Amino acid sequence: MRSVELGPFPDVAGYEAATTLDAADRLQPFAARFVPTDPDLIYLDGNSLGRLPAATVRHLQEVVEREWGAQLIRSWPDRWWELADQVGSQIAPLVGANPAEVIVADSTTVAILKLTVAALNARPRRRRIVTDDLNFPTDVYATGAAAKLVGGREITIVPSTDGVHGPVDEIVAALDEDTALLTLTHVAFKSGYRYDMERLTRAAHSVGALVLWDLSHSVGAVPIDLDGVGADLAVGCTYKYLNGGPGSPAFLYVSEQIAPEVENPFSGWWGHESPFAFDLDYAPASSIRRFQTGTMPILSLAAVETGVALTAEVGIEDLRHKSIGLSEFFIEQVHMHLEPLGFQLASPRDADQRGSHISLRHPDGWRIVRAMIDSAAIIPDFREPDNLRFGFTPLSTSYTDLHTAVVRIVNLMDADLPQTYPQTRSTVT
Ligand SMILES: *Cc1c(COP(=O)(O)O)cnc(C)c1O
Repeated sequence: MRSVELGPFPDVAGYEAATTLDAADRLQPFAARFVPTDPDLIYLDGNSLGRLPAATVRHLQEVVEREWGAQLIRSWPDRWWELADQVGSQIAPLVGANPAEVIVADSTTVAILKLTVAALNARPRRRRIVTDDLNFPTDVYATGAAAKLVGGREITIVPSTDGVHGPVDEIVAALDEDTALLTLTHVAFKSGYRYDMERLTRAAHSVGALVLWDLSHSVGAVPIDLDGVGADLAVGCTYKYLNGGPGSPAFLYVSEQIAPEVENPFSGWWGHESPFAFDLDYAPASSIRRFQTGTMPILSLAAVETGVALTAEVGIEDLRHKSIGLSEFFIEQVHMHLEPLGFQLASPRDADQRGSHISLRHPDGWRIVRAMIDSAAIIPDFREPDNLRFGFTPLSTSYTDLHTAVVRIVNLMDADLPQTYPQTRSTVT
């Protein structure tokens, strides 16, 4: 890939701009806190799987050798039993919650199922659930599963007009006195559109509906104030911007206001008031613990501990500031160098309406992504039918990375490299 980078298009002015921005970047030292990759690799997929913090390697070694290997079952009372609460408390300030409102449990999909059933049961006489077509498909599947379990409910999927911006006015118009729940992803996984959480929460509450926010693409990347906007329920993923590792468990938020009205529909011993009494009658814990069901995956959970700690150490305001800086720089580079090659911005132009990733569209997107990964050492990802997604993780992405990525893309397009890849799609990028 070096030959591609040093090809006919070196863009010296862009390089100088990028190095100046990097020199002024307070977060630059944090890149060294991750396990190094191949030095040529430009990883722009931290919104799908975050990088591995070096602290996580040390921590997991300790958890495996000492807590599991040496301490064995004594680690349950000493540490593991409380770990999901503890990590939930670490996540709480990142989402504007108090520690008693957040618990780690399940996968995001299962967490959506649980909280949606809980919300529908709390609004028994309302038939409708409202969402949009920018939502992540698994969210819609889990919402459908919840509707089926509860029975007698229907889902309205409000379409976006351009596939990029959330249909805000149309969603507000779709809410009525028969709506039980508004369920949306805060930052859309494809276009990166970010909803105004306060406005939509208020709109749902004004008709008496509850709101469930999916924070998977926003936690650790954009400031979130669940308590401040009066949100009811939320879920989020820990393996994206929080760097918790592949398949690390999700988190659930239940606001203190709504807590007395909602129950975990899937009772299990981990949500029991006194699990070690082994009583056959289920009595839910009074705390947020009652939203847990079964045994937590402790090794994964331990990785979330160090991932979240790193984010908390930096602080969300600085992360957001750099994320906007990176996105604006990238959009300018795209405008100058990639739009003439047939790429189009498929994310909102206004930073206020975005999360921390940018999508581009290109009719030959699939083959371009293949060429980027195989021949140019850039890892973005691809979303059907023609979306190239570039995730910016402020802890580890530099301005120079983005500049180099654009230079390599120009050079691989000039060299017609995408044409050497087949049109046929394989599975995961
Ligand atoms: C990543 C993501 C998920 C993933 O759900 P899992 O159950 O962890 O597979 C769900 N929803 C959204 C919006 C996501 O971004």
